Amino acid sequence: MVSLYFHIPFCTHRCAYCDFNTYAGQASLIPAYVEALCNEIRFVAGSAPERLPVHTLFFGGGTPSLLAPSQFEKIHQTIHLSFNLTSSETSLEANPGTVTLDSLRGLRRVGFNRISFGVQSFHADELRLLERIHDPFDVLEAVRWARQAEFENLNLDLIYGLPEQTIARWQASLRHAVELVPEHLSLYALTVERGTPFGRWAARGLLPMPDPDLAADMYEWASEYLAGQGYEQYEISNWSKPGFQCLHNLQYWRNQPYLGFGAGAHGCANGLRIANVLRIKNYIEHLSPLHPFPLPPDLSFPLSPATVTQTRLTPYIEMQETMLLGLRLTQEGMSPQVFHARFGQELGSVFGKEIDELVQLGLLEWAQTSEVFETWEVLRLTPRGRLLGNQVFMRFVGD
Ligand code: SF4
Repeated sequence: MVSLYFHIPFCTHRCAYCDFNTYAGQASLIPAYVEALCNEIRFVAGSAPERLPVHTLFFGGGTPSLLAPSQFEKIHQTIHLSFNLTSSETSLEANPGTVTLDSLRGLRRVGFNRISFGVQSFHADELRLLERIHDPFDVLEAVRWARQAEFENLNLDLIYGLPEQTIARWQASLRHAVELVPEHLSLYALTVERGTPFGRWAARGLLPMPDPDLAADMYEWASEYLAGQGYEQYEISNWSKPGFQCLHNLQYWRNQPYLGFGAGAHGCANGLRIANVLRIKNYIEHLSPLHPFPLPPDLSFPLSPATVTQTRLTPYIEMQETMLLGLRLTQEGMSPQVFHARFGQELGSVFGKEIDELVQLGLLEWAQTSEVFETWEVLRLTPRGRLLGNQVFMRFVGD
């Protein structure tokens, strides 16, 4: 079964740290973008050899909550008419400064059953530094309204390791988040990206770079604190109450197929990775009925007129990616049986050397896991390995 991602690349203002494919000041293009998105959905579904069964839907951005519920209704109708929807999870990313009780009720009515608020901090000065458009009060209201609108699966995103952030301030932010009783929390370390205002300020010495040791302390404290609050860590940056893991993101981490729709969206299925054209206006043009698009001879992958790059993945690359993604899952890890069932090769015969070295270094471990009467062994990150995840993943990328 495939998952579907929809990219909504509109924002009211670009945050100072953001390097996503998103644009401010282009809201007048939203109606044409919604048309283009519907065209792309119809085209891709129509080019698939059969009506594809769909597992999850995820609308990310950007700020998807800038679209009106009626625009989502149109998109959802198109999805329902085009795919075989068996989805149990339909997620929306939202900026707390862009929602109202009415809009959240409308989104729930349209079919969203999971909402993810980009909170980032509960300190007004930190939010101003990040150039977020909301303040802590907006978050409290957004969460209250979301509950009134009957969202029962709610995620809050927070960022730690901000310039000059103390551990006490990080602890206060996370405690505020937990007081709101979200079912899910995503905690990300700030990365200062080149090409963003943060990157430029840091290069000119105007912004102190985050202290990686302090960020590691913040992460370790959060892991312990959240475990005590009944949250299970299931991925390097993600915690949930039992039964509330994000099914859509699990699809990525298990390296299962997904299709991406919208400007700059990516998809990966049938050994092919594809990416759409980045800019909003170009995307709309590519989806115009007048835009020439010769059907590709190989329809093993449903292609879109907005696709600009296609990369054929070798089986070895797929194995590498399965390792990189699977090891992010801190409990599930990578099972040799799952690996063998998928690739027909023993995990040890492909990556034995890398695994042995990382186990010796104390970054990976073999652990027993069980379900009902069955017990099996999985490879997973140690607590130290979670802090040094990139070093672990690099070993599987090789040359
Ligand atoms: S709201 Fe999110 S996507 Fe938009 S600019 Fe800020 S960080 Fe980027």
